[in-house]
Amino acid sequence: MSDQKVALVTGAGQGIGRSIALQLAKDGFDVAVADLDFQQEKAEAVVKEIEALGRKAFFVAADVSKRDQVFAAVDAAAEKLGSFDVIANNAGIAQIKPLSDVTTEDLEKIFNINVFSIVYGIQAAEKKFAELGKEKGKIINASSIAGIKGFPILGAYSASKFAVRGLTQVAAQELAPRNITVNAWAPGIVGTGMWDLIDEELGKLNGKAKGENLKDNVESIALGRIETPEDVAGVVSFFASDKADYVTGQTLLVDGGMLYN
Ligand code: NAD
Repeated sequence: MSDQKVALVTGAGQGIGRSIALQLAKDGFDVAVADLDFQQEKAEAVVKEIEALGRKAFFVAADVSKRDQVFAAVDAAAEKLGSFDVIANNAGIAQIKPLSDVTTEDLEKIFNINVFSIVYGIQAAEKKFAELGKEKGKIINASSIAGIKGFPILGAYSASKFAVRGLTQVAAQELAPRNITVNAWAPGIVGTGMWDLIDEELGKLNGKAKGENLKDNVESIALGRIETPEDVAGVVSFFASDKADYVTGQTLLVDGGMLYN
């Protein structure tokens, strides 16, 4: 096993996941870029950007709601890149509906993708750290401001992100004896495909024109600007680094000043 550090980022074909993958490459990691099959083209472009930074990368197709696919992606990362040190469980979806309209199918879908995936990612990573005899490992999960405070019409989403925070706290305690840290990041309003969808769906519910809901929400941010995927990637970079060796079980708000704890 080489000294080269290796990370796997799920949902890394676009948005926050892409920025995390690029930031970890800048930090010196070789990176497995995981995403759904249909995102292959975008993910391969991220692979090229990482290679241009002088690091190794490859695309691995994985639906994070499928346990065997998450385990296979981690196996592939370790096999192709020669080690395994960090997993960023980033992939997730939003749903915009008042609770009265949420169906069983909605709940199953969002919990499979946003919550079950976190359990599978934790399990696959800790198994790999053990197999490789790692002295430490880092697991980093995607929560949200909606995982700290419940947001109307984001009920199922909020519940899923609260669950991520709970799992992060539990895994941190269970895995601490093996020097594996488990943390989460909680972004505010990041300009990605996810917010395009939230803006559009909110508009359908409250009649506001495209972009207006996003604008209203941005006005509630103390730093006065929309969050970038790079803002999030900076926090993940810290959690993935040796500088965060003594930080575990935390969910760090990276929201420009929306919520305070
Ligand atoms: P995005 O929609 O731009 O990207 C999500 C990525 O995840 C896509 O590449 C998509 O293909 C992938 N993905 C979706 N379902 C998947 C599955 N089943 N298996 C594998 N990959 C899958 O979203 P984003 O804004 O970059 O969000 C990334 C994470 O950050 C999510 O967990 C999201 O909940 C969280 N987050 C986003 C915001 C925001 O404002 N955008 C705020 C808080 C938290």
